[in-house]
Amino acid sequence: MKAGSTQCEAHVLAEIRQQLQTLPRGLRTRFAPSPTGYLHLGHAASAVFVWGIAQSIEADVVLRIEDHDRGRVRPGYEKAILEDLIWLGLMKTADFFRQSDHWDRYESQMEAARSRGLVYACTCSRREIMERTGEASHDELRYDGHCRTRGHADHHAGLRLRLDPMTCAFDDLWTGRQVQRPDEQCGDLLIRDRDGNWTYNFAVSLDDAAEDIDLVIRGQDLLPATGRQLQLRSIFGVTKPLRFLHHPLIWESPERKLSKRDGSTSLRHLREQGLSPAMILGQAAHAVGLLDRPEPVAAPELKGLFK
Ligand SMILES: [Zn+2]
Repeated sequence: MKAGSTQCEAHVLAEIRQQLQTLPRGLRTRFAPSPTGYLHLGHAASAVFVWGIAQSIEADVVLRIEDHDRGRVRPGYEKAILEDLIWLGLMKTADFFRQSDHWDRYESQMEAARSRGLVYACTCSRREIMERTGEASHDELRYDGHCRTRGHADHHAGLRLRLDPMTCAFDDLWTGRQVQRPDEQCGDLLIRDRDGNWTYNFAVSLDDAAEDIDLVIRGQDLLPATGRQLQLRSIFGVTKPLRFLHHPLIWESPERKLSKRDGSTSLRHLREQGLSPAMILGQAAHAVGLLDRPEPVAAPELKGLFK
């Protein structure tokens, strides 16, 4: 396992710790896993940041199960996630939410945007967009607005939300000043796919607003999503300020971040190998550069990593 290039030098880490301690007390942050697999070491690293920072600045942690994509959710994983968190000693949460309990939230906000003329049906497949725009196949594909004026009434169409040009700037607590232009990065945002699933950015933006989140702590793989989530907040009239900290990821190799496919790092597997919760948390903290050595850290002591 090798560290990514985003790890901090000791003095930068010291500055971040200092900055964290200037945050107000009583913020609400969240831990938001998807029940599409078992928790792995990458989740443990994220949990170290979420609970460790929350302990150190007296913030509340909300647990949110992000099961918006019904095509990828598998039965049993939510229960397994909760068991793993209890085993790690991290179940002290202020609230518990599940996205599939909030379909009405997504539906009503979509309808509100539609009545403002901001939502339109789109039948384009990823391949069609790629063929039209000539863009190579990569994760981030910009939608070209093809269906904006077509007036599809197809019930099996996806739904897109107009994203007008808007510069979204924010000061990330880990990565510093960020400036993003969602209309240039992704174009009009798919908010419901052709199978009827609400999409990640749409659901999460509405959840963060409704659940009163004011500090988002998550991995740097989600950094490009943040501008569009800020633009969604603006479109839906959310005025509460939201702070962000995008933490380093654990890399399996220099090109590839750790994923659910890597069964060998699932917390269940590590537990079967005889690792204690404190050893796993310590290993995760070490892998993202918070500890010089992989020494054990018990859940209640995570705050020490951020002070
Ligand atoms: Zn389209």
